[in-house]
Amino acid sequence: MQFVSTRGGQPVALEQAIMAGTAPDGGLYVPTELPTFKAGELPVNAPINEFAARLLQPFFAGSALAAELDSICTEAFNFPAPLRGVQNAPDALSVLELFHGPTAAFKDFGARFLATTMSRIIQRRAPQPDAAPATIVFAPSGDTGGAVAAACHRQPGTRVVVLFPDGRVSPRQQHQLTCWGDNIISLAVKGEFDDCQRIAKELFADPDISARFNLCSANSINVGRLLPQSVYYAKTSTDLQHERGEGGRYIVPTGNLGNAFACAWAKSMGLPVEELVLATNANTTIPEYLDSGEWTPRSSIATLASAMDVGNPSNMERLRNLWGEAAELRSRVRAFSVTDAQIRAQIVAEFERQGIAWCPHTATGFQVYRQQLDDADRRGRHWIVVATAHAAKFDEIVEPLIGEQVAVPDELAKLLEWPAQFETIEADAAQVVARL
Ligand SMILES: *Cc1c(COP(=O)(O)O)cnc(C)c1O
Repeated sequence: MQFVSTRGGQPVALEQAIMAGTAPDGGLYVPTELPTFKAGELPVNAPINEFAARLLQPFFAGSALAAELDSICTEAFNFPAPLRGVQNAPDALSVLELFHGPTAAFKDFGARFLATTMSRIIQRRAPQPDAAPATIVFAPSGDTGGAVAAACHRQPGTRVVVLFPDGRVSPRQQHQLTCWGDNIISLAVKGEFDDCQRIAKELFADPDISARFNLCSANSINVGRLLPQSVYYAKTSTDLQHERGEGGRYIVPTGNLGNAFACAWAKSMGLPVEELVLATNANTTIPEYLDSGEWTPRSSIATLASAMDVGNPSNMERLRNLWGEAAELRSRVRAFSVTDAQIRAQIVAEFERQGIAWCPHTATGFQVYRQQLDDADRRGRHWIVVATAHAAKFDEIVEPLIGEQVAVPDELAKLLEWPAQFETIEADAAQVVARL
C-alpha cells in the first residue's frame, strides 16, 4: 500500500510516510486507498495483537516490513483495551479503557507501534558503522512525551531528546519524561513550552544538523501513530456486532482529533461503527465548524483536560479528506464542548455513581453521555465512553474533587520509582546540539 499527502502529489511507501511524519507539502499522509473488510472477515474475540496484525495487513502489503507485522503487533500491543460495563447507567453503557499501557494513556498504543516500526525500518537500512542513531527531538505537550519515551526506551538504533519547560510541568508528568536514561536524553529548558517547540523546529530546519544527527519526528500526526489506534475501534465493534447484532457507538474525548479520526477510519474500512460523537473541552474549533461550516483555527485555551487543549486540530485535514466538508460531516459525526465546571461536576458525579475516579479527559465523555445526548439518543442503545487516561495521572485535579487518593496502576507506579535524571539548559538550540 502507498501513502499520499492530503494535499495531493506523488504517493510514497509506508516506510517513507512513517519516517517523514509530515508530507513535504505540509499535508498529512493517508493511504491511497483504504482497505475494506466484509462482515465475518476479521476474527471475533481474538487477542488484540492478532486482531491488529490482521486489520493492518493491507497497509503493510508490498512493504519489506510485511513479514514483520506479526512481531511488530506482538511487541506493540502487549497490553489490553478492555470494554467494561458501567453500573447504574440508564441504558447499556460501557467504557473502553485505553489506559493499560506503560504510561497509562491511550497514546501508548500509537507510540509503541510507531517506535517498534521505526526501529525495524532503521535496522533494515544498510548498516553504516559510524552512522548516528535515528534521533527523535521533540517538545511534547501533555501525555505524548512519556508515551514516546517509554516506547523508544532501549529500542535499537533510536535515541530520543525530550525538551520540556523547566518548572512548568506537573511533578508526576515531569517524572515520566525524566525517569528513563539509556537512549533517552531529558533536557529541562529554562523557558516556556513555546521555547522548547521553537528549539525543536530550529534543529529540524537546519539541513546540516538534521542530516548529521539523523533527526526524525514522532509527532502526533505521524500515520504510524494513527494506524494502531483504529485497532481498538475495529476490534470492539467487531466483537459487539457478533455479541449483540449491533456495532459500537463511541464518545471520544478529542483534542487534535487523532484518536477519533482512527475511529472514522475503522468505520470507512467497513467496520460496524454505528456512531461517532466527539467530546471537546472549551476549545470549540471542531463543534463550531460542524455548526457553522466555518473553519476557524485559533490559539488554544488552557483547561482541566489539558491534553485536549488544541485550537487548531491538525487531523481535521484528514477527516475532511476522508468524509468531506461540514455539510457532509454533520451527517456522520457530532461534537459537543464541555466546560471545566462540567468536567469537575462529572468527576464527582461518576465517582458517586460508580465508585470510580475518571480522568478529566474521560469526564468530558461522561458529560456528553449523561447531559448532552438526549433520551432518544440513549434509549435502547449501547454507548461506549472512551477512557483516554488513568485518573492517577491527574491526581492534583482529581483527588481534591473526590476527597480520596487515587490508586496508581502498577505500570505507572514502577516508573515513578525509577530515579529521575535530566540536565537543565538555556533556551538555545546550540545547547541541545552540544549534548547530541
Ligand atoms: C492526547 C489526549 C487526548 C486527545 O486525543 P487527540 O488524539 O489529540 O484528539 C485525550 N485524552 C488524553 C488523556 C490524551 O492524552
